Amino acid sequence: MIWYPYTQMKNMKTPYKIIKADGVYLYTEDNKMIDSISSWWSVIHGYNHPELNKAIREQMDRFSHVMLGGLTHNAAQQLSQKLETWLPGDLNYCFYSDSGSVGVEVALKMALQYYINQGETNRTKILALKNAYHGDTFKTMEVGDDIDYHFVIEAYGPKQNVIHISTDIPSLEKAFKKYHNELNCFIVEPLLQCAGGMKMYDISFLHRARELCDKYNVLLVFDEVATGFGRTGNRFVADLVIPDILVLGKALTAGYIGHSVTVANTKVYRAFYDNDSKKALMHGPTFMGNALACNIALKSIEIFEQNDYMSKIKEIKKITFNQLAHFKHKKIKEIRIMGGCMCIEVFDSQSINGFQEFAYKRGVFIRPFLNYLYTMVPYIIKKHELIKIIDIIKEWFDQ
Ligand SMILES: *Cc1c(COP(=O)(O)O)cnc(C)c1O
Repeated sequence: MIWYPYTQMKNMKTPYKIIKADGVYLYTEDNKMIDSISSWWSVIHGYNHPELNKAIREQMDRFSHVMLGGLTHNAAQQLSQKLETWLPGDLNYCFYSDSGSVGVEVALKMALQYYINQGETNRTKILALKNAYHGDTFKTMEVGDDIDYHFVIEAYGPKQNVIHISTDIPSLEKAFKKYHNELNCFIVEPLLQCAGGMKMYDISFLHRARELCDKYNVLLVFDEVATGFGRTGNRFVADLVIPDILVLGKALTAGYIGHSVTVANTKVYRAFYDNDSKKALMHGPTFMGNALACNIALKSIEIFEQNDYMSKIKEIKKITFNQLAHFKHKKIKEIRIMGGCMCIEVFDSQSINGFQEFAYKRGVFIRPFLNYLYTMVPYIIKKHELIKIIDIIKEWFDQ
């Protein structure tokens, strides 16, 4: 049987069984619902997309997978070329993995070895943010600060090599002053901390982080597994402040197949490029650069560009904002909106208990967690569909 994620199996509510999915709609045997969270934020073009289906079929007819150890292929080469020109600055060197967590692990390993390769073995600490989420593997749990999910890591005692700070400039400056000799990187989910509760912060914090990283020679790592591909209203937050290492996942493959990419800039790459084989990056997920995943990612980027997705996201934000402009309720602590993400934080998680079922009956799939009721809609959503989601949320609080 299936062991489901993030849930107590003993009292788990039976999950909705999906038999078909198309556009923004998920179908069960007897219901049709709008997916308001894009299957963990990945299905940006909607389900069963004809062009993406064609891209995967065409690649499947050539071959589905070959390893990147000693072999290479067009799909991975073309995607890397595309990312090289599409991503800002000199973020040019693409290392593929099969999931976001592993992509972050690779970034952290790169950052550590970047200094080791230059004879600096004392830079073992990582600076990260409070409420950070970077994945569920062990090092990403350590770098994360999501005790509701990762309490098990406490069994190891206090974290030795990670310092967590809040998203204000004085805390940032203080941490750099104190630890800069020992830090290899500062890793952040830029502007929007998703799994940690859709927490939003200002770009000035990232500008200051870039300055301090330059001043003290610390690598800046952006985990844009969730924020990439338009979610914050920016194509990438990396367009505003350029990191040394960028991790993309989730929407990279439009929700078709798990894949991620860890992209390094020239400075990072050069620290590994040497006659000494010990300076190589010793990592290689079995399914890295999977041909189906790469071909879908390529097609997904093409669709994103050709259909002016950034305007679609602006429109989503505008509609969401207008629909919620005068909405208040005593149970609601705060409503936050950024790009294609909306979050209602309530004072007490009890007040959104039962909301999922309520929304299901009205034709919307939504999955609140802890004190957060949020939407991350597919970008192809129509105005009336988006309004329907928001109306159901209002109806819940107003009933
Ligand atoms: C989802 C997520 C990850 C982990 O990605 P997986 O593909 O689930 O391993 C890492 N970082 C962020 C910011 C995420 O939202």
